[in-house]
Amino acid sequence: MKSRYEGSCLCNKVTFRVSGFSEEAAHCYCSMCQKFHGAAFGTLVGVFGLTWHSGFDLLKHYQAENGATRTFCRECGSSLGFRVKDAPIEDIELAIATFNGDIPVKIDAQIYTRYRSNWCRLEPDLPAFEEGRA
Ligand SMILES: [Zn+2]
Ligand SMILES: [Zn+2]
Repeated sequence: MKSRYEGSCLCNKVTFRVSGFSEEAAHCYCSMCQKFHGAAFGTLVGVFGLTWHSGFDLLKHYQAENGATRTFCRECGSSLGFRVKDAPIEDIELAIATFNGDIPVKIDAQIYTRYRSNWCRLEPDLPAFEEGRA
């Protein structure tokens, strides 16, 4: 298995590398993920050994009313990451779809499904939680 996984924003000015991923990753259907990712759900994953290769100064951070901070590329608008309130940038969870190529992450849940849009269907084989993980 590889020990380096690289990702980037759409304009490729922000690039990063990680050495591993946390075990759990879920599709999140909360309304904030929907808005931030412009998609039916957001999928974020905890990472190990994160290094920013380029474009660190292009990262823009938006703090929502609940204190959670979402990070995106100032240049192209790509949704890159999420941090809980008061967490440092080192603890950022990254948007899984920004990685290049395959990564060893298994989605094991669907969360905040009560906020799901009517035009999007859940995956029948994945555990679903109306709010966060039980
Ligand atoms: Zn960009
Ligand atoms: Zn969410």
